[in-house]
Amino acid sequence: MFKNPALEVRARPFFALMIVMSAGLVMGAHPLWAKGEGENLLDQAQRDYVASRGVVRYCVDPDWAPFEYIDAGGAHRGIGADLLRLVADRVGLTLEVHPTTTWEGALEASQRGDCAFLSLLNRTPARESWLRFTEPLLIDENVIITREDHPYVVSLDRFDGERLAIPAGTAVEEWVRRDFPRLQLILTQTENEAFQLVSDRRADMTIRSLIVAAYTIRKDGWFNLRISGMQADYVNHLRIGVHLDDPLLHAVLDAGVRSITHSEREAIINRHINVVRHEVEVIEKSIFWPLLGVLLVVLLTSGFWILRQRTLNRRLSQLNLLLEKAATTDPLTGIHNRARLMLCFEEDSLRAQRSGRPYSLALFDIDHFKRINDTCGHVVGDQVLREVADLMARKGRGSDRLGRWGGEEFMMLFHDSDVQAAMEATERIRADVAAHAFSHGEQVTISAGVAQWRPGETLVQLMERADKALYRAKDEGRNRVCRDAIPV
Ligand code: GH3
Ligand code: MG
Ligand code: MG
Repeated sequence: MFKNPALEVRARPFFALMIVMSAGLVMGAHPLWAKGEGENLLDQAQRDYVASRGVVRYCVDPDWAPFEYIDAGGAHRGIGADLLRLVADRVGLTLEVHPTTTWEGALEASQRGDCAFLSLLNRTPARESWLRFTEPLLIDENVIITREDHPYVVSLDRFDGERLAIPAGTAVEEWVRRDFPRLQLILTQTENEAFQLVSDRRADMTIRSLIVAAYTIRKDGWFNLRISGMQADYVNHLRIGVHLDDPLLHAVLDAGVRSITHSEREAIINRHINVVRHEVEVIEKSIFWPLLGVLLVVLLTSGFWILRQRTLNRRLSQLNLLLEKAATTDPLTGIHNRARLMLCFEEDSLRAQRSGRPYSLALFDIDHFKRINDTCGHVVGDQVLREVADLMARKGRGSDRLGRWGGEEFMMLFHDSDVQAAMEATERIRADVAAHAFSHGEQVTISAGVAQWRPGETLVQLMERADKALYRAKDEGRNRVCRDAIPV
């Protein structure tokens, strides 16, 4: 019935969700899988193997954030890297990444035997010719991404000659070639290139992991893209693929993978894509019980397929709302991000142009923020950023737009306000921050520069003037607000 026997349980999403949830509960609670039981995981032969094995070299996808990537310093990073580190600690293996510049290069290196295993990949028949797979390290579904104006995609069967952009050498490429030979594939080197082609109308769609899509769309601000469908039987069961000639290494890594609890896995995922994953889960949980109830009734009345379609559409709308939010929200503070501020300015300045009403901007910068990081650590630094953002959000007027421009710099856009009115509002915020009892117990101050928009001026030009004022505030001793010196 399902096109892809290699894809296991997720072919029936409702039942699979039940299985995944109960598996999660069992794994989270099982005492044998608790942390610190590492040595009990392996039998004597496996322990001997680990003791004599030396450094194990492995290959990774260098460009698959947030799953995994190689950073500028050559280190393996991402969700997969953290999970793998946990596995290695548990079983006592020492690992070293064998870097390649592309995913295809990693596959080739693995085939040649340059590395003992690949860290995170789907099991496919082609790959099983040289790899043996562990249990999944991570499970993630695939979604169909199109431009905003594209209708929802119910089934890829309907398409003939549509252009699908997809990174070369991925499991999804293999599946699509087999299941939808009438689609025209455009192979790309990177994830970003696939999004770029769709965004620029050089391709009609791409199929990517939900986690990667949510992460990339937010990070790079692909505002004209959306999730238009889900390929229900295309699910990434991401596993470690170990070279067939090293069966003991497979057994050891498999034991390590099985020892990771549900909550450990979730904590690692949340560290990398905090907002997004959390909200996706809330959606899944919130539709689960109503869905199950209705499902039983509908099964009896054989209306199953109609319901399935409606549920899918509703879920797609929810996911798109979520993506839109993620693309315009700063994940640390929850206020607008830079992309959203730029859109706000475009809208507001047009409105001010039409109405002839004044419009102003304030740039804020936390004073001596480096010192806070250096003396209290980055976690406290992050907490200070959140507290400053909360304070500013509470003190601003409803109509003002607040966002994090980057680092420890914030921006506020004031409707119907000339430079004097904006100065007064900004000064109130400065005084509130200076008087606030921060949770780390020390005073924090901010400086700000204010400028009034001149008709026709771009955001960059306006910011330049506000920035000069801000630097004067810093020069004059910080914890103060200065205004643009040139009269409007
Ligand atoms: P000044 O009063 O002149 O503004 O001094 P400053 O120390 O604030 O100087 P600067 O603006 O150059 O320092 C900004 C620091 O903010 C540098 C960077 O490490 C830190 N930073 C940027 N983004 C984040 C973040 O998201 N979290 C944390 N904890 N620190 C950040
Ligand atoms: Mg700064
Ligand atoms: Mg600063």
